[in-house]
Amino acid sequence: MEIVPNEQRCRWEDCSRAAGPAHTVYGRAYCPQHYFSGVERALLDEIRGVEGTCRTAKFHNLLKRYIEGLLDEMGAPPGLAKLTPSQIVGRGVFSLVTENRMLFSIERHPTFIPITYEFEVDIKNRRLNQLSWEPHYVSVAGFAQAFQFSTMQVRRLIRAGQLEAVRASQLQDLWYTLMLERSERVSKPWDPRLSGFTPRHAWLIPFTEVKRFSQLREPGVGQPGQGTAEPDQGGNRSGGQ
Ligand SMILES: [Zn+2]
Repeated sequence: MEIVPNEQRCRWEDCSRAAGPAHTVYGRAYCPQHYFSGVERALLDEIRGVEGTCRTAKFHNLLKRYIEGLLDEMGAPPGLAKLTPSQIVGRGVFSLVTENRMLFSIERHPTFIPITYEFEVDIKNRRLNQLSWEPHYVSVAGFAQAFQFSTMQVRRLIRAGQLEAVRASQLQDLWYTLMLERSERVSKPWDPRLSGFTPRHAWLIPFTEVKRFSQLREPGVGQPGQGTAEPDQGGNRSGGQ
């Protein structure tokens, strides 16, 4: 067996393997097998005693590497598909819950209706769990169904100013602008994601209104999005009118 000189050895206790040049965590070089543990230990050190949100550059750097490791290990949950670890850390809103558990939410725009996903980083068990997702708007039909109204009653509430709503066209225009900013290719107005299932004049109701109406009634009514099921990516959650 090859003897590795002391100064080139992995910094993990009792490990005599050679440290890899790409596996350094803030001055401590590890072998490939101990790199993730090294990241984890440094991350735990950085968040120890912190309450709420940690904003240090070191935290962000370690978290990115930690999430990278988790995604390599278990693959990305649906709500994080196509995002790089840097994008996850950059766009996510993180809060520490306990010493080895944190929650984060991330807003995504698979269609013109944004969706907020909630996740848990379980450091103890080395898991990244998707907890829930919530569309920011529901259709008139969806709202009617959740509260056992007719669609006509829902439209009457909107016209009477008792229920907040926006036109689909407003959201479609916002989404189009956002996609342009991100240099994603969409063509207006023929892109099916834009014009598809929702007429531009259709009303969409903010999810905050669903919550408000739920509170007016018994709790638990009209709560879509609990669990890990993936929402419809085709934009027809808001379908019909
Ligand atoms: Zn090692």
